Amino acid sequence: MTSEGVAVGAVDAEAVERTRTAAAEADRVVVKAGTNSLTDEESRLDRVKLDKLVADVMDLRRRGKEVVLVSSGAVGAGIGRLGNGGGSAAVDVDEGRDEIEESQALSTVGQSLLMRHYTQSFDRYDQPVAQILVTGADLDTPERFDNFTNTVETLLEWGVVPVINENDAVATDELRIGDNDMLSASVAIALGVDLLVTLTDVDGVYTGNPKRDADAALIEAVGANYDAVRELIGESTTSEFGGIQTKVEGARDVAEHGAPAVIAGSATRDVLERIAAGKPTGTLFVPTAGETNE
Ligand code: GLU
Repeated sequence: MTSEGVAVGAVDAEAVERTRTAAAEADRVVVKAGTNSLTDEESRLDRVKLDKLVADVMDLRRRGKEVVLVSSGAVGAGIGRLGNGGGSAAVDVDEGRDEIEESQALSTVGQSLLMRHYTQSFDRYDQPVAQILVTGADLDTPERFDNFTNTVETLLEWGVVPVINENDAVATDELRIGDNDMLSASVAIALGVDLLVTLTDVDGVYTGNPKRDADAALIEAVGANYDAVRELIGESTTSEFGGIQTKVEGARDVAEHGAPAVIAGSATRDVLERIAAGKPTGTLFVPTAGETNE
């Protein structure tokens, strides 16, 4: 299939419209934000980016929606704090990512900074937040799974915004870029949410790498064209591109469980408000049962 074929007209227009409306009307939403959406070029937590994300989340809260935030950035923020720019606290950090033990330790430094920023930022709206750290194994163990969902249900009932991250200090096998894409999908499915929004530093899923290829076109919807889209992004992207593959897989998982998902740009103005207003934003994943031609 050509790039154009994937980008245009590949998904039933009515299904797209229906899904957009369902996404707008979602009562319970998981919002996932990646490290790039929260840190600056020196890997320090970027207060402006973080405040924008919080303002976007508050747009949904103001509409009465329950919001669960899945936030990366712990390792990144740890690098920012203890890496080269860390002043007198700087340690000999080998950029963290390849050294699993360093990354785990860095995550514990960064996670507390991350939560301090979130708490302060949400406090501006008098919005309480909670921190939950989980591993994939927690969600696979029935008793822990129940405890997790019960805790989140209680928090949501109380109007708290849970901020979830992988428990990187103990999740040895799992600390990889993109893990939170899968974690956010598992959390969304576990909590029976009506919408997953994955925010990233590009504006959605493209037919090529939009950072390098001026002809790359936004794929507006993914449904029956899923296999073609996967093939296309497999060819046109590298892991350096920030794992659009895992975002697509996570969004598709949620769509296969019957809920819409959106991959959109964290820098897009009023990104969550746009989705809640039913405006075309990023790449929309149509629930697989919702498309007539599939
Ligand atoms: N849990 C990791 C962190 O907070 C990020 C994993 C990911 O980027 O998906 O740094």
